[in-house]
Amino acid sequence: MTDRIAERVRAVLPRVVEQRRDFHRHPELAYEEVRTSGKVIEWLGALGLEVRSGIGKTGVIARLRGDRPGKTIALRADMDALPVQEATTHGSARHGFASLVAGKMHACGHDVHTAMLLGVATVLSELRDQIAGEVRFLFQPAEEGLGGAVPMIEAGAVDGVDLALGQHMGPTHPTGTIALSRGPAMAATDFFTLKILGRGGHGAYPHLSVDAIPIAAQVVTALQTIVSRSVDPLEAAVVTIGTIQGGFRNNVIAPEVEMTGTVRTFDRTLRESLPARVERIVRGVADAHGARYELDYALNYPAVVNDPTAAQLLERAAAEVLGADRVQVIPPSMAGEDFAYYAERVPACFYWLGCRPLGAQDFANLHSPSFAPSWRARRWISSRARAEAGRVARRGSGLIVAP
Ligand SMILES: [Zn+2]
Ligand SMILES: [Zn+2]
Repeated sequence: MTDRIAERVRAVLPRVVEQRRDFHRHPELAYEEVRTSGKVIEWLGALGLEVRSGIGKTGVIARLRGDRPGKTIALRADMDALPVQEATTHGSARHGFASLVAGKMHACGHDVHTAMLLGVATVLSELRDQIAGEVRFLFQPAEEGLGGAVPMIEAGAVDGVDLALGQHMGPTHPTGTIALSRGPAMAATDFFTLKILGRGGHGAYPHLSVDAIPIAAQVVTALQTIVSRSVDPLEAAVVTIGTIQGGFRNNVIAPEVEMTGTVRTFDRTLRESLPARVERIVRGVADAHGARYELDYALNYPAVVNDPTAAQLLERAAAEVLGADRVQVIPPSMAGEDFAYYAERVPACFYWLGCRPLGAQDFANLHSPSFAPSWRARRWISSRARAEAGRVARRGSGLIVAP
């Protein structure tokens, strides 16, 4: 079986690379993945899979049913790009595939995720007679901030699913390795907009105004005490103020300062307590200076928590394919992912697929205009593992696991 898979992976690989480059040339932002989703539908249709499209506008769900009854596994890829101007060297290569769209780029590797999942669908379709149960392929829109997982779930993406797997390019990990966390994997990523409302005036007469700038400065400092002084030191939390804007010129007292920030946590109770803690501090500081405030606090993606059994299964399967030394168990990351919504509903595991170019010390991270994942890892992988690379099925368990 492993040989049959490896053989088919090798056969489909050039098409996957070509399709990924095509996606890379034509990046589309969240909920605009019309061309991308068209290519996905075309590819899946040619495999004879049962395909549903137009989910959350551009999402696609395909089902591959095996010959025998068994469990259902869902494999998820995200399709959206980012509003980033590409700065890689892809354009200068002989077969250049840099983004053709100004100001848009697949800087988070979703082009790779989508193309790889199409490759997996091809290989597994060819091995349908070996499959017990169902493999469901989820191509979702809008991972970057707009929660495209939600309409997918509403459309039944994980109904009856026993295990969901999500994969992400991991540029901090070498190509040829995977990395995963056994429990909490990625943080809840909430955000807020805060306005401090004072009263403007002449810079020479502060006593006749309410200066929003020193009040905002105190709020920024005081908010940092949430993590340092009021959250259990053994719990993880981050409060970051990302933008701050206010004022007109040097001799005018600013009537208003607006800031935006993100709050990141893993623990649900802690997460739910934070809007009130933030507001208490803002209210206290504003009150002390006779200012008012407006706070708009939004709960965004929940934390991604890997199911320990699912993580163990993936760890074991990956170790068989890559070798145990190529599978790394890592602490959780404070970044966020809307895969969290699937993981809230069914046992799931989200993992990083290493894509750091061979030997690179300095490399571009996700969302960087220079992000350039590398799939060349031959020297990293033993010949035995290479022969098994692409193994996508586990015999005996009734479950199928994708690389
Ligand atoms: Zn991203
Ligand atoms: Zn991403």
